[in-house]
Amino acid sequence: MFEKILIANRGEIALRINRACKEMGIATVAVHSTADANAMHVRLADESVCIGPPPASQSYLNIPAIIAACEITGAEAIHPGYGFLSENARFAEIVKEHKITFIGPEPEHIRMMGDKITAKQAVKAAGIPTVPGSDGAVTDADAAKVAEEIGYPVLIKATAGGGGRGMRVAQTPADLMPALSTARQEAKTAFGNDACYMEKYLKTPRHIEVQVLADGHGNVIHLGERDCSLQRRHQKVWEEAGSPALNTAQRDEIGEVVTTALKKLGYLGAGTIEFLFEDGRFYFIEMNTRLQVEHPISEAITGIDIVREQIRIAAGGTLEFRQKDVTFAGHAIECRINAENPFTFQPSPGLITTFHSPGGLGVRFDSAVYDGYKIPPYYDSLAGKLIVHGRNRNECLMRLRRALDELVVGGIETTIPLFQKLVREPDILNGDYHIHWLEQWLAANKPS
Ligand code: ADP
Repeated sequence: MFEKILIANRGEIALRINRACKEMGIATVAVHSTADANAMHVRLADESVCIGPPPASQSYLNIPAIIAACEITGAEAIHPGYGFLSENARFAEIVKEHKITFIGPEPEHIRMMGDKITAKQAVKAAGIPTVPGSDGAVTDADAAKVAEEIGYPVLIKATAGGGGRGMRVAQTPADLMPALSTARQEAKTAFGNDACYMEKYLKTPRHIEVQVLADGHGNVIHLGERDCSLQRRHQKVWEEAGSPALNTAQRDEIGEVVTTALKKLGYLGAGTIEFLFEDGRFYFIEMNTRLQVEHPISEAITGIDIVREQIRIAAGGTLEFRQKDVTFAGHAIECRINAENPFTFQPSPGLITTFHSPGGLGVRFDSAVYDGYKIPPYYDSLAGKLIVHGRNRNECLMRLRRALDELVVGGIETTIPLFQKLVREPDILNGDYHIHWLEQWLAANKPS
């Protein structure tokens, strides 16, 4: 096992990784920008190294500085967390070249899944159902013919896409060329690559993803699904495990399809396969080759520490669990407490003047904020994640209600008032929602 791990991240996820390391008796190294000198992730790690000025491009994305920090401190492995360098195949290669272990999948799998067309082709060949669409990128000349074959409405997506950019719907043949041209322009600006492909546009699907863990010894297990349908601008806001829309047989079936496919692909580490789910059918949209923000809800219902397993796998160990050992107990919900206006979603960084974390049975609050902490304006707006677990969905919702009422984050605006409303909405209580539900609700319920 490793003796020392460098955590190449900040905020709540750096604390999360630090906790797993401590429980495994592993020493930790934090890296930080000058803006984060007093951050909690720096205080809780055994050592810390400043890697640059506030902008992420000069600090948390600064590969030479991170490698140097490893060499100075003698860290044997790097955990990238999520975001920043976590899905950068070149970074994973460079880490390897320096004889440091990258806690994550092989660079070839990061690269394969980072391109939407190669990802789709690879998983399709391995037996995972995909959204009907074009075989690879489309040219302007064959776009109309391909769209006709798929059937309108169609969704145009950038091959290099991410964060919902380079995505446009064409409802009718008349929309097609303008939509394609806009998608290409957006993709060119955002990713320097204007290649686009086409998919059938599903009208009211749910977003359901499956968490997997694969060791280097032929063992691949799944930890069930998460329902992340409550989104705003393709950003997840509220997640549940399991999905209110799936029964045990459907969960077992998709879990089996996914683990079989990843075995075929020789995948290593933790990963998430994302699907749209409509009329009882699953359609692959993408795979994330890293730890996800919403991983704690899977931990809550399975009792498995995903970060611990990631570290064990990277050290060459065997998974501590077989599929038959994975049992699902109760229901869990996560709310992303962002430092932003709850209805306009304008970022609201600044000084936290009062802070109180909720507690009690089944409540977990993953956060790096504290009384007197100043949220810097340079990074994402996630201030904390409230994760509640109950014996069933009803208990979980009641617990969420009271935990939200206990949570105090004063001095800045947060999304807490939004969740206090959502947790009382009949459709949410019934589990009756899809990927457009939240935006429609926001349009109808915005305070004037
Ligand atoms: P990105 O990498 O840009 O986030 P994804 O492929 O993960 O793109 O899709 C993001 C979101 O866009 C999905 O969660 C879903 O809400 C919507 N979406 C993607 N593909 C389709 C589709 N074929 N039909 C309808 N909505 C889709």
